[in-house]
Amino acid sequence: MNKVRVRYAPSPTGLLHIGNARSALFNYLFARHFGGDFIVRIEDTDVARNVVGGEDSQLNYLSWLGLDWNESPDKGGSFGPYRQLERLEFYTKYANELLDKGLAYKDFRENSDQFAIRFKVPKDIDYVFNDLVRGELKFNSKDVEDWIIMKDNGIPTYNFAVVVDDHLMEITHVLRGEEHITNTPKQLMVYQAFGWRVPQFGHMTIIVNEHKKKLSKRDQNVIQFISEYAEMGYLPEAMFNFISLLGWSPTGNQEILSKTDIISQFDPSRLSKAPAMFDKEKLAFVNSKYIKALSHEVLAEKSKPFLEKAGITIKSDEWLLLLVSIFQDRMTHIGEIVALYQSFFHQAFAISEEAHQFLVDNQSLPLLEAFYSNLESSDFSSDVIEQLIKKTGLDTQIKGKPLFMGLRISTTGDMHGPSLPVSLALLGRDIVLSRLKQTMTKLRGEA
Ligand code: GLU
Repeated sequence: MNKVRVRYAPSPTGLLHIGNARSALFNYLFARHFGGDFIVRIEDTDVARNVVGGEDSQLNYLSWLGLDWNESPDKGGSFGPYRQLERLEFYTKYANELLDKGLAYKDFRENSDQFAIRFKVPKDIDYVFNDLVRGELKFNSKDVEDWIIMKDNGIPTYNFAVVVDDHLMEITHVLRGEEHITNTPKQLMVYQAFGWRVPQFGHMTIIVNEHKKKLSKRDQNVIQFISEYAEMGYLPEAMFNFISLLGWSPTGNQEILSKTDIISQFDPSRLSKAPAMFDKEKLAFVNSKYIKALSHEVLAEKSKPFLEKAGITIKSDEWLLLLVSIFQDRMTHIGEIVALYQSFFHQAFAISEEAHQFLVDNQSLPLLEAFYSNLESSDFSSDVIEQLIKKTGLDTQIKGKPLFMGLRISTTGDMHGPSLPVSLALLGRDIVLSRLKQTMTKLRGEA
């Protein structure tokens, strides 16, 4: 078999969308699994729709996702150029060849010497191909009218340019979205006209939302641009993992897989025929799994820009480590650190009736007094606080739930929560002592 060569061929008409990213990723996995080349080619012939920065956004976010490629406009390669508008001479040459062979004809504009070139569609011929995903597909040429291959401005149409490029770039497999299935017969006609070897096609199913509707860029319910996920603090490794499951599944039931695992397990025969469902909750779950696996140091590093952007003062590196350590298990994306911080620090101190009753029933006042005096004169690190909780227990002969729950309620107002020593260290001495005092005053008033 020839060396595998696959390509991702975006039109630079916008930001990298989840559907584009899936096409790119599957081509990448295919190339890396089979030890082939992965090429990025920019299909910019729809000039009116190109946007400034579209190409950069595509490439930057593909590399953010962890993809790398062998040939591209920015990297070069021996099959370049890699932007279609820089390849016009090839399309002209091959269109002229078809004109010479009588397989295409000029279509003049009324009263003008400007012309488009149309492909002469052979009559009543079946075009059959074996799709990697869907098996054998058959189209008859009677459903296709003579179509334009070169517009009168000298720019090729997609269906023509794509064949010329895939041929010249020695592309062996074309993996792309299902919306291109109906383009394939036109492309096959061009391959046949030149007698070129046809690549193996594989059309990936559509991606649908929770209501089984095709994901559209206008769908407000689903965040769809990779840049938005990056900005919210989704991890590229998690996005890579999640996107790889949009229309492909590994053999085992382990779905949390590293890039290396996915590359080695990738099997095109496991590409799904059924639409791939974009499940937001699954994405949040996958991302939270990756967040849980981070060290506190890395999580702190990643959280810092979000906190700074929200104007939150980072008191010290240790403080930041404590902060992320208590919220690590609750974050579905790193940006959530801001809301978690805010609810932790800015919530007014309030003790529910149930929690207050716990203090009354357990006659907690002496416990709080002892804790207060132990805390007053000490360092306020989580280690020291942990020791002081123990000491307070010994001093007062109070153990277990009455000890831990009593101290938690009187300082945080909550009956449950993250590690108490860490929470108190984060809240800081002033807040903790003032809360204890308020609770004691209330208990004394009721005694
Ligand atoms: N430029 C086309 C697109 O963005 C590429 C289709 C193909 O892979 O052939 O959909």
